[in-house]
Amino acid sequence: MFSVRNGWLFVEDVSIKELVESYGTPLYVTSRSTLERNIKAYKDAFKDAKLLYAVKANNNLSILRIISANGFGADVFSGGELYIALLADFPKEYILFNGNSKSDEEIRMGVRSGVAFSVDSIDELYTLSETAILEDSEVRIAFRVNPEIDAKTHPKIATALRTSKFGIPWEGIVDIYRTAYELPGVEPCGIHCHIGSQITDISPFVEALEKMFQIAKQVEEIGVELEFIDIGGGLGIDYEGKGAPTPAQLAEKLLPVFENGLSELKSDPELWLEPGRSIVGDTTVLLTKVNAVKKSYKNFVAVDAGFNLLLRPAMYNAYHRIAVANKMDREGEEVYTIVGPICESGDILGEDRKLPKVEKGDIIAIFDAGAYGFAMSSQYNGRTRCAEVLVEGSHHYLTREAESYGDLIVKQRIPEHLL
Ligand SMILES: *Cc1c(COP(=O)(O)O)cnc(C)c1O
Repeated sequence: MFSVRNGWLFVEDVSIKELVESYGTPLYVTSRSTLERNIKAYKDAFKDAKLLYAVKANNNLSILRIISANGFGADVFSGGELYIALLADFPKEYILFNGNSKSDEEIRMGVRSGVAFSVDSIDELYTLSETAILEDSEVRIAFRVNPEIDAKTHPKIATALRTSKFGIPWEGIVDIYRTAYELPGVEPCGIHCHIGSQITDISPFVEALEKMFQIAKQVEEIGVELEFIDIGGGLGIDYEGKGAPTPAQLAEKLLPVFENGLSELKSDPELWLEPGRSIVGDTTVLLTKVNAVKKSYKNFVAVDAGFNLLLRPAMYNAYHRIAVANKMDREGEEVYTIVGPICESGDILGEDRKLPKVEKGDIIAIFDAGAYGFAMSSQYNGRTRCAEVLVEGSHHYLTREAESYGDLIVKQRIPEHLL
């Protein structure tokens, strides 16, 4: 939870001043109580459903351990995420290995780990079957279905349009289940879709679930016994202060459709959901220090974090609320564009924001940076990644060290003749 005391932003009971003095900037700071609140909101809303946290949104191990300790499973999209999820103690029966382009090595790793797969292509199905036979195991699978639904979100995060690279067209899916049902090594037991991210209108979820049940009925006729129907993640959060649906509102619309659908099935699948952003998004602020304030044709505030640490504004034109963390009790006076240190014109964190008078040394807080923030960071421009901190009440813990310059070159090798 975030509050203001004596003009300073606080994360729970810790002042930003203390955090910046202890760890420097830039700095990602996560509030544990906010994370727990989000987790509880989902658990209260979806009591009988299984929640699989989407690891790609934020893979900080301390955050993952809090989420796994709350009984969540995990949605992973790579061998690396699978590795991290297993380290964070997510139970393998509730890890779903997603991905549209899994390598043979990743498939082998998933089979050996005993996790379930969301299969995204026929090629993957056959490789999985062969691998499972070689490894003498049987893999539980779902197919990632493209239900062709417009999630009404940014085109780069809409994942179920007809033209999307994800999933298998829903029209042909029943034949593919039939193929899988007859293949050794794989056991089709689920149906999966994920229609997009930052979705603030609930109706596309309802439409997708209805389509999943149409498929479920046909798939059952083949003889498949369904263990789960996975509707994916994608619930949006309130970046702009315009409101966003809560997990409870999603449940209110989704659960009746699910119950109704179940009544027409022979098997008794669980509902699975894969929230990422709506679990971690608003738990975290990115703190960044002002290096320079410059009057050009616009007023620029140049800070020490850029799209190397928070890509969303540059990548999706995303809006993040921005405040001066040491001047929280002052009114907005001037309009500033907040820019990072990266050598790219697109390195803008916030455009034309009304803020109190900003000076060199001020601390800028960028809110709602917990999802697809650090997780999408890079070392572009020779910038080291910053530290991450977890706040619990009046305590704070370093959960990821800042990188050093040595980390920029640690994997490089120089051929002898160039030495
Ligand atoms: C990214 C992703 C999610 C999580 O999406 P959010 O918008 O962060 O909730 C869930 N499932 C799959 C398959 C994904 O790719």
